[in-house]
Amino acid sequence: MKISKLTVYSALKLLKSGEMTATEILNLSLEAVEEKKELNAFITTTIERAGKDAICSDTMYKDKKPRLLEGIPIAHKDMFCTKNIKTTAGSKMLENFVPQYESTVSNKLKELGTVLIGKTNQDEFGMGSNSLHSFFGSIKNPYSCKETLSPGGSSGGSAVSVASGQVLLATGTDTGGSIRQPASYNGIVGYKPTYGLVSRWGCIAYASSLDCPGIFGKTVLDTAYGLTSIAGHDEKDGTSSTEEAEDYLTTLIKMEEEQGSIDLKGYKIGIIKEIESMTLSDEVREKLSTTKLKLEKSGAEFIELSIPSLKFALPAYYTIALAESSANLARYDGIRYGHSDTSGKTFIDRMKLSRTQGFGEEVQRRIILGTTVLASGFYDAYFIKASKVRRVLYNEFQVAFKKCDSILMPTTPNTAPVIDDTISPLKEYSLDLFTVPINLIGSPAISIPAGLSDRGLPIGLQLVSKQFEDAKLLKLAYKIEHIIKGQKNDGV
Ligand code: GLN
Repeated sequence: MKISKLTVYSALKLLKSGEMTATEILNLSLEAVEEKKELNAFITTTIERAGKDAICSDTMYKDKKPRLLEGIPIAHKDMFCTKNIKTTAGSKMLENFVPQYESTVSNKLKELGTVLIGKTNQDEFGMGSNSLHSFFGSIKNPYSCKETLSPGGSSGGSAVSVASGQVLLATGTDTGGSIRQPASYNGIVGYKPTYGLVSRWGCIAYASSLDCPGIFGKTVLDTAYGLTSIAGHDEKDGTSSTEEAEDYLTTLIKMEEEQGSIDLKGYKIGIIKEIESMTLSDEVREKLSTTKLKLEKSGAEFIELSIPSLKFALPAYYTIALAESSANLARYDGIRYGHSDTSGKTFIDRMKLSRTQGFGEEVQRRIILGTTVLASGFYDAYFIKASKVRRVLYNEFQVAFKKCDSILMPTTPNTAPVIDDTISPLKEYSLDLFTVPINLIGSPAISIPAGLSDRGLPIGLQLVSKQFEDAKLLKLAYKIEHIIKGQKNDGV
């Protein structure tokens, strides 16, 4: 048995029936971690703690008191603070940071019986789309053959750890697509919840009005297990929603157990007409249209929508995200937090040295751009204008959501690109064309595998819904996932 053959759902069944123990599942996971070392998915592994967690889970099963995710091997993106476990955000700045507290997300998952395998590699402070900007080296997409393919980013390590069968579930953060985009490149499911549904407390900040903790899994059902575990109000996060978290799991488990025929009768799915004329590779374009046909055959009605401001989302995002990040990263000054070079004589010298050494090139670029758009002469022209675009975009999407249950769109304009020296910052930013608009409007979105390209590379498609319609979105995604899986040449 390989752990790559298991899902959260099937592993829980084996654990409950006593066919496997948590320790056995942990051993499968550790074998895979060892085998797949060259992918560089982990910054830190927590093998000793995992062994203790698994023993505890086995006792819980023996005592017939298993918690929701008892014995499930999990990995956390290194943005989540974990008590007594190094947390780096992929940066030299936090190379030696060992938090004294546990983030709300990792704490909830711990309390529900998960077994922590380690902390995953990522773009520094969540900034990037190819996982090339990590102090701990780049990550490899498991689909790479002769050439090294991008695993996506910034949560590349989490996506790869699930896709390559090292763990069954992983956390990520999605500020502009960092869960959905790597999920798409690695052929797995990535869920970005409604902004505010999952607490950001204890999660290292990139851009606070956009950051969303979320989940990677092999199936929609597995991500529903994850979301159920981490959603809900948290008084420690000022932007945490007080709206009650829904039941994301029961309906899906029922559908899985019944295994009845699935159709989309009564569902209205929106397609944005402006996407037609946007940059999109032929293989993704084709996958979108064949999927649309397939869903139509299953009873879905497609509605054409217009989001005229969609093309402004990318520049608006890169203005707002960089402005917020420059403010959030100001705390790493070599005195209060992070890497410190004490050789400078003055405060300014010390700050300069510490920040120059501690931050990588991409982070420094973003801090400079971010402070520029906030500078008094540019604030109105850039930051305020971007904020206005954000509002207009939000309004356009709200009109669209009145006409449909959910919107189907590409997750990324392409399949995983080859990593070579033609990757420039602007080229990298353009990979986020279809993911960043959703962070700007705070909606939930899920990327599901839509099959492989002719070259054998995964293509993900994204479903987007109105804020706080996460349960409805997951149900529809589950149905679509099963309809797609029926297609020839497809599969997770
Ligand atoms: N690629 C985007 C960026 O670099 C999104 C990153 C993210 O979601 N953390 O900003």
